[in-house]
Amino acid sequence: MRFKIVQAGEPVLRRKAKEISPGDVRSRETQQLIEWMRETMYDAPGVGLAAPQIGLDLQLAVIEDKPEYTKDALPGFLKERERNPVPFHVIINPKITLLGDSDLQFFEGCLSVAGFTALVPRARKVKVECLDHQGQAKTIEAPGWYARILQHEIDHLHGMLYIDRMHPRTFMSVDNFNRHWKDMPVSEVLRAIGIEQ
Ligand code: ZN
Repeated sequence: MRFKIVQAGEPVLRRKAKEISPGDVRSRETQQLIEWMRETMYDAPGVGLAAPQIGLDLQLAVIEDKPEYTKDALPGFLKERERNPVPFHVIINPKITLLGDSDLQFFEGCLSVAGFTALVPRARKVKVECLDHQGQAKTIEAPGWYARILQHEIDHLHGMLYIDRMHPRTFMSVDNFNRHWKDMPVSEVLRAIGIEQ
């Protein structure tokens, strides 16, 4: 089954989601929910999907960055973003610690702000303590693009969207991004768009 992904303006996207007890994580209902969220994420397609995006205020998100998503990207593009494939996994009740001494800025999008993108500064590295799909405690240390995905999804569980953190002047349609900005280095985008660095 595939869920409908709600769009910005839906109240659930602005609420802090509720924690799930380890016992409830192992329930049939939650296991089925995880499977359907996985299918919904693949169908979109996206590299992450948080429960509020399908209208549920639960602290649960699914993540997977498949190799096929980046098969046409240039090696330099992937290297700059420190983007590597991430296998499917679930994060529940996550507590995030931002690491690394500087932010990285890259264009980012969201299935709940469909058709748009913007430059978003994010920490280069994070530590996340959470439960996994079986309700077991787990610690994740992630650099690069995976760290960005985790920050984006965990923001969803706290009622935040990337538009709260973006450079507002870089907000644009995906069509215009592909037309004018896609192949430009970020430093040049910032200059062309009139942002002081
Ligand atoms: Zn999102």
